[in-house]
Amino acid sequence: MRVPALLLCAAVAGSAHAQTPAPSPALQNEVVIHAGTLLDRPGRDPRRNATIVIQNGKITSVQDGFSKPAAGATVIDLRDRFVLPGLIDSHVHLDSDRAGIEGQLASVTDSPANSAYEAAWNARKTLDAGFTTVRNLGSGDGVTLALRDAIAKGWTIGPRIVDAGSGISTTSGHMDQTLGFREELHPVLASGETTCDGADDCRRAARKQISRGADLIKIATTGGVNSRIGLGLGAQMMDDEAKAIIETAHQYGKKVAVHAHGADGINIALHAGADSIEHGTLIDDESLKLFKSSGAYYVPTLSTINGYLERIAANPNAYAPEVRKKIDWRISITGEALRKAVGAGVKIAFGTDAGVSKHGRNADEFELMVKHGMTPASAIQAATVNAADLLGVADQVGSLEPGKSADIVAVQGDPLADVTVLKKVGFVMRDGKVHKHER
Ligand SMILES: [Zn+2]
Repeated sequence: MRVPALLLCAAVAGSAHAQTPAPSPALQNEVVIHAGTLLDRPGRDPRRNATIVIQNGKITSVQDGFSKPAAGATVIDLRDRFVLPGLIDSHVHLDSDRAGIEGQLASVTDSPANSAYEAAWNARKTLDAGFTTVRNLGSGDGVTLALRDAIAKGWTIGPRIVDAGSGISTTSGHMDQTLGFREELHPVLASGETTCDGADDCRRAARKQISRGADLIKIATTGGVNSRIGLGLGAQMMDDEAKAIIETAHQYGKKVAVHAHGADGINIALHAGADSIEHGTLIDDESLKLFKSSGAYYVPTLSTINGYLERIAANPNAYAPEVRKKIDWRISITGEALRKAVGAGVKIAFGTDAGVSKHGRNADEFELMVKHGMTPASAIQAATVNAADLLGVADQVGSLEPGKSADIVAVQGDPLADVTVLKKVGFVMRDGKVHKHER
C-alpha cells in the first residue's frame, strides 16, 4: 500500500519534534527590533536602548533595554540607528510626477494602464524613502484607488494609501481637466467628473467620488498654480457649493481636504467645515482664528517649489506663460504662511504635493519646514502622529505602541538635531515586513 505523502511528511516532522522542540507558530512570526534610540511617540522625548516586539505585523510591546528574544524569534539589530514610526505624507499624486507642458502632453498620450504602472513605480519609490502611508489627493481614471487596493492585497509593493479619487472644483477651476485643450477634446478629458456648479451638482459630485470608493473628498475653493488658466489664485467656489460638498462628505463619514491659496477661498472652506487646508499660501488673521476654532489641519506643501525650480532650470519653457506667472509668485512667498500658522499654534500635518515635486524625495519637505519656522521635533510630529490623526488612521499608525501596525523606519544620525538625515532612510518595515535594510 502506498503511504500518502502527507502522512509521510507528518511522520518525519514528528521525529524532529522529539529531539528539539520547534518554536510555537506565534514565535516563528515574532520579530524583535533592538533600537539604539527610539522615538516611539513623536512629540515626547526619545528613549535610549529599547526593544520593539512584533507579532504578525503588529507591535505587541515596546520595552526599555535590549530584551533577550524568545527562541525562534527573528532579531533585527538597529542598535546604531535612530528608530521612529513610518513617515506619512498627507499630500501626494502618485500617478505622475511629470508636470508643466510635459504633464499636459502625457494627459492625452498615456492610457490609464500606463498611468497605473507609473503610479506603482512611484509608490515603490515613496516606500523606499521611508513613507509607509500616504494620502493621495486626486488622480484621474481611478488609478490610485485601484493601486490602494492592490497594495492592500499584496499584489504590489507600496505605502498604505488613503485615496480621494478625483478632486472636485467648479468649471474652469483647478481640477477642470479641459483647461488648455481644444474644445473638441473636452468630452474625453472631462470623463473623471471633476467639476460641479451649484450646490446640488456639487453634492452629486461628492457622492460620485464616494461611490467610486474614495476614502475622503478633495476639493479646490481657489485657483491653482499648475492649472492652465490665468484666473489667479483667489476664490473660485461659492460658499453654498463648498458647504454642500463638505456636509455631504461628512454625512458619509468622509473628511474633506481643500486646495486653497487665496485667503477668501481658505476662509470659505474653513467656515464650511474643511478638515484640512492644502497650500494655504495667503492665510490671514481670520483663517488663523478659524483653524483654531475648527481644529482643521494646515498642510504646507513647501516642496512644490523644488519641483518648479528644478524643472525651470532644466527647461526655461517647461511651463506655459500663464502658469509660470503663478509659479514665480508662489516661489517668492514660500514659507510665509507656515510661519504664521506655527506662530498661532495651528495644527500642522506633513504634506509635499509630490507629483509637482519628485516622488521618493518626500523627505526634502522636512528641511523646508525647519527652514520656515518649525523645530525638527515638530516637523517629525507633523509627519507621524499629526498626519495619522488627519488621515483617520491613528489607531493603526503614527506612533509605535502595542496594537499598532509595525510600520517602522530607521536612520543614521539624530533627526531631532539634523532633520535632513531623514532624506536617507536606510531601514523600512511595513506591516512587520522588512522592505529595505541597508547596513
Ligand atoms: Zn496637490
